[in-house]
Amino acid sequence: LIQLAIPLNFIGFVYREIRQGLTDIEHMFDLLDVQAEVIDRPEAKELTIGRGAIAFKDVHFAYDPARPILKGISFEVPAGKTVAVVGPSGAGKSTLSRLLYRFYDVQQGAITVDGQDVRDITQQSLRGAIGMVPQDTVLFNDTIAYNIRYGRTAASDAEVEAAAEAAQIADFVGGLPDGYRAMVGERGLKLSGGEKQRVAIARTILKAPPILILDEATSALDTKTEQEIQAALDVVSRNRTTLVIAHRLSTVINADEIIVLKDGVIAERGTHGELIDRDGLYASMWSRQREATQAEEQLKRVRERD
Ligand code: ATP
Repeated sequence: LIQLAIPLNFIGFVYREIRQGLTDIEHMFDLLDVQAEVIDRPEAKELTIGRGAIAFKDVHFAYDPARPILKGISFEVPAGKTVAVVGPSGAGKSTLSRLLYRFYDVQQGAITVDGQDVRDITQQSLRGAIGMVPQDTVLFNDTIAYNIRYGRTAASDAEVEAAAEAAQIADFVGGLPDGYRAMVGERGLKLSGGEKQRVAIARTILKAPPILILDEATSALDTKTEQEIQAALDVVSRNRTTLVIAHRLSTVINADEIIVLKDGVIAERGTHGELIDRDGLYASMWSRQREATQAEEQLKRVRERD
């Protein structure tokens, strides 16, 4: 009986491991709110990655053929530069990042990375070259260390801690009774949106990919959290080809180029200064957001006084 119990126990262990693995993958897809729809071509090659220059060439895309979302989008993110995409809600900003990560294929045109069409390379090699900081990070039901180390499973404790430091989350972790061994996720400690995003940034710092996609949280963050996240993002995007999907405008000021998306086309493009001078859509979005922020701050001051 004992002889039988050991293998059964072992099978139980393996089963739990596999189950956990599947749960993690399911979570990853939940978190990005997409299904695996794209499959590799039989002759797909590994991506030959240099510094990760990205090009969108006349990209057309619709989730539903009756409703085109992108109608001929062309822009480049030169190696090591940062391009930010802004535009009204539903304009298709996050869709651009999903196409680059190849959750979907373009229906016309092409997306290339270092000159290679993403449809001709394996998804695994493409995604290995990209670090994705999504809007809403779902954490695994495991320790903080596990959640950060997910970026590079072979990383040492010291590397995990250095990444946490760079992502501005180390002080928070230091204040937890169990520190890096604290359990997080649905069955553990619940982290705020800003804390979760910084865990995702720490993960990406460990992964150290040539390309970054930052899909900014839509929700308003308080000024301090926003500054901490911005500082963490500055560290991670330095010298990396970065595509920022900006839902708030405060993060785009230093981008090398800003793309303003509207009704499926690029309505305006340029640096922050150029677009403000142009006094068009970007300038009006900017002044509206400034007014909204000022009103919020005023309200907060009134509340604090009372
Ligand atoms: P926001 O700033 O509000 O996040 P966004 O510009 O990032 O908006 P996307 O998420 O790219 O917008 O979505 C563009 C459009 O495509 C929206 O109208 C959205 O409803 C639709 N859409 C997004 N994902 C899907 C999907 N999986 N299936 C069908 N339609 C979708």
